[in-house]
This record gives sequence, structure tokens and C-alpha cells, in this order.
Amino acid sequence: MHDDRPDLRALPLDRLAALVAALREKPFRARQIHRWLHRAGAASLDEMSDVPRSLRAALAERTALTTLERASEQRSTDGTVKWTWRTADGKLVESVYMPEADRRTLCVSSQVGCAVGCTFCLTGTMGLARNLSPGEIVDQVHRANRRIVELGLAEGPRPLTNLVFMGMGEPLANYRSVKVALDLLLAEDGPNFSHRHVTVSTSGLVPVMRRFGEETPVKLAVSLNATTDEVRDRIMPINRRWPLAELLAACREFPVRNGRRITFEYVLLRGVNDALEDARRLPGLLAGIPAKVNLIPYNANPGLPFEAPDPARAVEFQEILAARNVTAVVRKNRGRDISAACGQLAAEGGPGDPRRAARAGASGAAAPLAVPGDLG
Ligand code: SF4
Repeated sequence: MHDDRPDLRALPLDRLAALVAALREKPFRARQIHRWLHRAGAASLDEMSDVPRSLRAALAERTALTTLERASEQRSTDGTVKWTWRTADGKLVESVYMPEADRRTLCVSSQVGCAVGCTFCLTGTMGLARNLSPGEIVDQVHRANRRIVELGLAEGPRPLTNLVFMGMGEPLANYRSVKVALDLLLAEDGPNFSHRHVTVSTSGLVPVMRRFGEETPVKLAVSLNATTDEVRDRIMPINRRWPLAELLAACREFPVRNGRRITFEYVLLRGVNDALEDARRLPGLLAGIPAKVNLIPYNANPGLPFEAPDPARAVEFQEILAARNVTAVVRKNRGRDISAACGQLAAEGGPGDPRRAARAGASGAAAPLAVPGDLG
């Protein structure tokens, strides 16, 4: 049954204040409820012990409250934790926790599956089931914060310091929900993430990039992965719609404020995009863009026809870029043993999981080249 009551988890403070006023309650109640939802990460109205029962009952009648259910948890030997969450309608999405010495990052999903269909990506083989709502995006952060504390992995009520929108889905294809979620996550009286510590990654949804840059202060990452249209067309079908020249022009026009640099993600696929010639070509493509490059050695995935690069290749790539004054970092592969690394997110065992298809002797579903434009 479709529930068209507003989601309490997704209401910004001013709308919550209007709701509280309509219920003839004192104005301070709005802030109190907001703090329960977004600072304490309350999972239910019942937890709001200092909010009068009558108000909680009125809210329960007029609003829904999105809270994800933890369906599974996998912990890697390197400290990475991958959670699969179940939505109210039974969909599965994943978030990945990556602790480092100086930061604790959550990789967040923005859609159930993905329509972009990058051929090296497990999520891409699932196709798109639906967009996540703002409440479902934000609640990944709340459930993760709580669980990290429960597991004793970190102290404090909100241990996460950084967010990357690099989980399942193309965030800019669900821009309206992602924008609402970002506003809630950056709100001072909410989780209060610094815009410097939040990154949204796109596969190159050119028409939305400018709007994203104008409307949000957070950082942009572009999943580049090739230095020619010929290769990028093959591994990222979105390139046929917005080829490299258009994508890089949009990057040059991207509003650079707060000293933002665009991060270019480059997954190294053996024999596909990892030639030293690619490394030599890349600086020319990035000329005029305040850029840094993340080099990510690919993790081989069952059912997908790509291989990890030679172990030395990422460093060779990095050296060529450095010699041409392009900052590049080789990213460690995290959570390989639990399929939590880049391009490995697909709700395991679900209908779209190609690992399941591979086990059954079938191939993963073909992903359509469709770029939903939920531009709000
Ligand atoms: S890499 Fe990102 S954009 Fe491409 S299919 Fe996977 S989730 Fe979608």
C-alpha cells in the first residue's frame, strides 16, 4: 500500500516547525524532534522520551518515519564493514564503512541498482529498480553511526566524519532526493557534516553537473576511467550520450568555490584502460580543471569480464601523472574479502546479483543505457 504521508525523516526544520505549529504545540518541540531524528538518529518515535506522548501519537498519524532495517553485516579484516539495508518495500541497498587513521567514511547508496550500466560494475548489471528517497539516503548514515558505536568501533554519538556518494546508483540521476539529503546531512542542528568532507560522484550526467555545483557546496567526483571515447563508450555507456569533450567541458565550467577540486576516479582495468599511453594522455584532458586523480586498481568480479591490473601499474601511472604536475593518489582496495570495494556493490543474493546469476550459470541482466533525469 502506498503511503503518501510525508516522511518525518526527510522534513527540513522549517517544515517540521510548520507541522508542529499546525498541531498547536510549542515551537521548541520542532527542534527537539529534529535533534532526535538527525543528531540521535532515533529509529522510532518511541525513542523520543521527552516529547509528549500525545504529540508522538499525532505525528505517527500524520507522518511516516523511514528507518532502514539491517538485513546483513559483513566485516572485513581491514576494518571495513558492509551493511545491507532493507527498505520498507523490501528493497536491498548497501553502505560501506571505511575507517582510516584520520577519518571515518561511509560510502552511501543513492538508488536501488543503477541504470547507467558501466560494464565493470556489479551494480550496473542490476539495472535500476528505483530511486532512494531522501529519508532512505539519510538513514543509511544514522543506522551506520549507531551500529559503529554499538560494535565499539568508535566513540561518540556520530562517529562518521566523511561521506562519499559512491555506493549503488548514479547520485545525479536522483538529484532531487540527493539534494534534500545533503541539506539535512550538512545542517548544523543535524548531523553537521562539513561540506569539505562530503563527496558526490557522477559517471558524467553532464546536464545536472552545473546545477549540482551551483546548489550545493559539497565536492564533486567524476568517474572517468578512460582517456578515449572509444574505450569509454565501451565501459561506460553514458559516454555515448555525453562524450569526453562534453564531460570535460562541464568540469571546466563547474563552479569552483571553497577551493574545491574535482576528483577524477580512474579504475584501472588490465589491458583496457591501463596502458602507459593512457597515463600520458590524461594530463592533457584535465588541463584547465582544478583536478586530482584517484587511481583504483580494479577488483576482479565473478561474472564480469575484467581483470585487476598488474600490481605495479598503478604506481607507474601515478609517476607519469606526477611528472606532468597532476596530483594522483593510488587508493587502497578496501574490503575486498567482503565484496565492499569499488564496483562490487550489488545486494548479495538479490535478484540482480550477478554473483547469484554466475553461480546459476546464467549471465547478469543486460543494463539499459537509460539516464533518468529526476531533476526536480
Ligand atoms: S559505476 Fe556507478 S554509475 Fe556506473 S553502473 Fe556502477 S553504480 Fe552506476
